[in-house]
Amino acid sequence: MRRFEIREPKSIHEACRILAEEEDVKLIAGGTALLILIKQGLFVPKTLINLKKIKDAGEITYNHQDGLRVGGLATIYDIESAPAVREHYPLLAQACHVVANIRIRNMATVGGNLAHADYQSDPPAALVALDARVELTNRNQVRIVKLADFLIGMYETGLEQDELLTALLVPPPAPNFRDTYLKFTTGSSEDRPCAGIAARVQSSNGLCEEVRVVVGAVSPTPVVVMDQNSMSGKKLTGDWIEEVASKAEAAVDPIDDLRGTADYKRRLVKVLVRRALTACVTGEGHR
Ligand SMILES: Cc1cc2nc3c(=O)[nH]c(=O)nc-3n(C[C@H](O)[C@H](O)[C@H](O)COP(=O)(O)OP(=O)(O)OC[C@H]3O[C@@H](n4cnc5c(N)ncnc54)[C@H](O)[C@@H]3O)c2cc1C
Repeated sequence: MRRFEIREPKSIHEACRILAEEEDVKLIAGGTALLILIKQGLFVPKTLINLKKIKDAGEITYNHQDGLRVGGLATIYDIESAPAVREHYPLLAQACHVVANIRIRNMATVGGNLAHADYQSDPPAALVALDARVELTNRNQVRIVKLADFLIGMYETGLEQDELLTALLVPPPAPNFRDTYLKFTTGSSEDRPCAGIAARVQSSNGLCEEVRVVVGAVSPTPVVVMDQNSMSGKKLTGDWIEEVASKAEAAVDPIDDLRGTADYKRRLVKVLVRRALTACVTGEGHR
């Protein structure tokens, strides 16, 4: 039997202090990722710091000036069901809603999802498309990092050993955007994504002002395949959709894994981007 000590801090400050002072410690939130690794013997920490006893660390707040703030301990279900998220960030609510199943979503936290950095995840692509940032806290300071920079590689982030991911920050929504998240699994519908597409189109009078497409789960980190400019000013026609979808296909460099070969995923990206943009352009996307 593996034995470890469990510490249960009551504040972020106390959690940071334990993290800085003790050796061989690991944070635990929902435990949906970490406990699997512990059971497999891949991790045998001496001490686990249970974050779930910290009050208000999963609070979700919104205002028009600053946008959305989601505490790192908010569960995926807290986010998908929060009225402010549903109203102002339906893309995020949608990406959270398709994570696994209700039991996992009720346990899994957004801090754990982002800190674990499994590339086959849903929320990161939507959050990168929304320009989200993460708040990282240690004993002495708080720093804010763009999520796209925080996610460095497979299971690799910019989190320092003594830091906690204390919040997710999403800027206020810009006007005239329609967006959607499409998840594709090669297993059951509750499976992790083989590919996940977050698409956002800002338009006025049928002309594209900005298009943003982020592909998740095919590479170690979400890939921003299209971020405005070259496609802006153009009419939102079928040809325009086809052009963006082809650019997306050319831009990704997928990896082979159990959920599909690189070649399969590259072709899949084109199909999914086409579908996602069609939903945005025809008004089936949110807003
Ligand atoms: C059966 C199953 C199906 C799944 N399907 C999907 C899916 O379809 N889509 C998807 O996106 N995800 C899926 N997941 C992954 C799931 O979303 C993640 O496991 C979950 O979000 C991790 O959060 P947690 O709170 O459980 O993290 P934990 O397991 O508690 O921790 C994970 C890691 O993050 C660290 N950590 C936790 N909180 C913090 C913090 N605040 N600051 C710093 N580090 C922290 C821990 O030390 C650990 O290294 C699935 C998981 C399972 C088990």
